[in-house]
Amino acid sequence: MKFNPSHKKQLDDALSHKGLRATKQREHLFKVIIESNHPTADEVHLSAKTNLPTISLATVYNCLETFVECGLVRPFNFDRKATRYDPDLTDHAHFQCKESGDVFDIPINDEIKSYLQKLLPAEFELEAVEVAFRGKGPIAP
Ligand SMILES: [Zn+2]
Repeated sequence: MKFNPSHKKQLDDALSHKGLRATKQREHLFKVIIESNHPTADEVHLSAKTNLPTISLATVYNCLETFVECGLVRPFNFDRKATRYDPDLTDHAHFQCKESGDVFDIPINDEIKSYLQKLLPAEFELEAVEVAFRGKGPIAP
């Protein structure tokens, strides 16, 4: 997805809500996340260095943490691999291709969500449902 003025407004609003400013660094890192496919911190760092050659990995981590706290991105993991960052906060699942490593968004509708919630025994309190698919894809028919 291409970074657009509504992303800039989303960034400004979320940061100012926490009393923070959208610095040039933060804006660039958010742009990198928007324009990447569920990047890891290392991937964000690598992309960001094109425009911000001196930016450190520690700065990237700090910034990503700020984005998570501000509700701009959602962190998730496949197994115990590096955390990935997702700017799409709507409910959806992820599919990871075991060959390319590419991550795909898989929509989860309300019907599926409520079905999954019903699987949980009554004495458990649900906070979040995360669904991860693994396999090969997309493959030609
Ligand atoms: Zn996603």
